[in-house]
Amino acid sequence: MSTQSQSGTARSLDTEVQYLKGVGPRLALLFAKLRVHTVRDLLWHFPRRYEDRTNMPPISAARPGSSATIRGKVADIETKPTRGGMVILRVTIGDGTGYITLVWFNQPWMRKRLATYKGDLLAYGQVREANWGYEIHNPEVELIEDEADAEDFARIVPVYSLTEGLQQRNLRRAAKSALADYLGAVEDPIPEALLRRHKLKPIRWSLHQIHSPQSDANRIEARRRLVFEEFFYMQLSLQLKRKEVRQELGIAFDISNLAPQGNLLGLFADEKPLADGETLWDELHRLFPFALTGAQKRVIGEVWADMERPQPMNRLIQGDVGSGKTAVAAAAMLAAIRCGYQAAMMAPTEILAGQHAMNLRALFDPLGIEVVLLTSKLPAAQKKRALAAAANGEAKLIVGTHALIQEGVKMHRLGLAVVDEQHRFGVMQRAALRQKGDISPDVLVMTATPIPRTLTMTFYGDLDVSILDELPPGRTPIKTHWKPPGERKQVYTGVRKLLEEGRQAYFVCPMISESEKMQTQAAEDLHYRLSTDVFKDLRVGLLHGQMKQDEKETTMNAFRAGELDILVSTVVIEVGVDVPNATVMIIEDANRFGLAQLHQLRGRVGRGGHQSYCVLIADDRAGDSGDRLRILTQTTDGFKIAEEDLRLRGPGEIAGTRQSGDLDFAIADLVQDAKMLEFARQAAIELLEADPELKAPEHRRIVQRVRAQRTESAIVTIS
Ligand code: ADP
Ligand code: MG
Repeated sequence: MSTQSQSGTARSLDTEVQYLKGVGPRLALLFAKLRVHTVRDLLWHFPRRYEDRTNMPPISAARPGSSATIRGKVADIETKPTRGGMVILRVTIGDGTGYITLVWFNQPWMRKRLATYKGDLLAYGQVREANWGYEIHNPEVELIEDEADAEDFARIVPVYSLTEGLQQRNLRRAAKSALADYLGAVEDPIPEALLRRHKLKPIRWSLHQIHSPQSDANRIEARRRLVFEEFFYMQLSLQLKRKEVRQELGIAFDISNLAPQGNLLGLFADEKPLADGETLWDELHRLFPFALTGAQKRVIGEVWADMERPQPMNRLIQGDVGSGKTAVAAAAMLAAIRCGYQAAMMAPTEILAGQHAMNLRALFDPLGIEVVLLTSKLPAAQKKRALAAAANGEAKLIVGTHALIQEGVKMHRLGLAVVDEQHRFGVMQRAALRQKGDISPDVLVMTATPIPRTLTMTFYGDLDVSILDELPPGRTPIKTHWKPPGERKQVYTGVRKLLEEGRQAYFVCPMISESEKMQTQAAEDLHYRLSTDVFKDLRVGLLHGQMKQDEKETTMNAFRAGELDILVSTVVIEVGVDVPNATVMIIEDANRFGLAQLHQLRGRVGRGGHQSYCVLIADDRAGDSGDRLRILTQTTDGFKIAEEDLRLRGPGEIAGTRQSGDLDFAIADLVQDAKMLEFARQAAIELLEADPELKAPEHRRIVQRVRAQRTESAIVTIS
């Protein structure tokens, strides 16, 4: 995967690290554990942080609480065993202005090293107050054999991530010799004109300053360049991908000409056309029992405009739970159908698909537009009928689960595919759907996972984004409380009161394992406890992933119809379930869930006019989960919660792609460098405007890097 050709010098960046001064085959094995195999890997293995040792006060000026570099001679050495079987080594050093004691635990070799040493030594660490003056515990020390060493020590020192057996010193030496001998072989992929335009430093300078900064200002400049570069290739890759999609042949839906002439209508015999002089907007307003929010109108406008373009639409709609994404989807599907095409909607679970089918039927039946449900668990005969209706075009609107994109599903004339809750779908599936028709259908992806803007650009950089940032009016924000398990009784009393007022409640059982079987067990236990004890006089239902489809439906319908007071459930109710009369949710062991997931769950309540509540039951023991849960009690803004989740847990978790490596940036940080990401994105767009296919010779190296990016990272192929 050599992305940079060798330069005129004989040195190659592909040289194995073992050949670097001070490394050798034994250490090379340890470097390999850090995924550092070649000199190039090493140069791109950036420090995690830095220690500023330029401040070297005399010992008398050292103050506790701050980090300092001390220079002095050994005045006294003392070892002392502890009762716990450890050995404490205390080395007092002096510099003529005072004394300070260096303390090590269980490092006998350090004694050997210092016992006979007569020269100066440098020690770095945090100064602390002790009984008899000041101490530094576990300092980093260096013996000054010649003055060059001292200069090297008293600088801004890089701190690398390590692996067992490797010392900072090993990495620092290796980096230093790589810089000295191989920097000349590094060629800058970014041409000078571009560097100048974006005020970026050259690559050699940046690599040098990132490993061995002369000043903080230099280090920051170097980092800026390297972060830019990382984002830049990624964004170029995404933009190129997006252009590929745009070059596919799509459908130019003739939405604005649908009315007033109504010329395209009546394609389907049984379909009621628009009334005379009516526009699609008019029809839409007639369709919903509520007035659309401003955000819904804006986003529907964006979607329709996109559908009119001849390129396939590839758009993401982000809207917090309850923001009314279904209405937007319905508007898009109505437009496609009115233009003579079929529309399909995919949901991640059977329950959701069923619910969508039900809601959409209520909207579309009066228009004479048939809605067909197609899932893998349908009875054979029903499924056969559904498949036939999809294939011969009788079914204008097909709602389903993954079954929709499985082999054998033929669509007569698919014009638009809506994918609900994208985070559950791979882009692969999105692509598969695209191939169901002969022409590329428009694709609308909807997600309620409020993905931080920075992540949207990373994951969905190939999509256009519309944001539904307004909730329908009349909603009272959900009140969220966090209670320790000891207060369960009081919580139950509160729930009972709401139930007596006619409301309904969800109980979400603890997430005890990834295994569905264990989950089921947990749900059954909680159901047993509530239905035979705490709420034995009430109607308590149970919903979990191992139930048969029709059992699930029966339970869901009973809850929806108010025939159950309480629904005990695993996270299967996570997305989309809509029962406005359910106004309270109790989440057991809430600290086991991610913030974004809790926010999603909580979105099941607060859907009607009544004040709604969410109670998180969790121990206070784990301090960090405490911080996380507190955020939920403070805000209902999904984007804020997502940003916080990103900050607390790191990006891999949010995206649900733990450890997959997609987001392993060498230096960039999605939270800290959000502005730079935007900047790099703009730069990528600009570059492609100037040189759409990156054909110019000065962009050759950029192309190589982008290609490497594509094969290395899965960003563009999975979600
Ligand atoms: P989500 O974005 O979470 O998928 P839904 O589309 O399920 O949200 O809508 C949530 C609820 O809000 C539904 O009951 C829906 O009928 C209702 N709703 C949607 N838009 C509006 C609106 N503009 N005014 C009032 N209620 C609305
Ligand atoms: Mg929804």
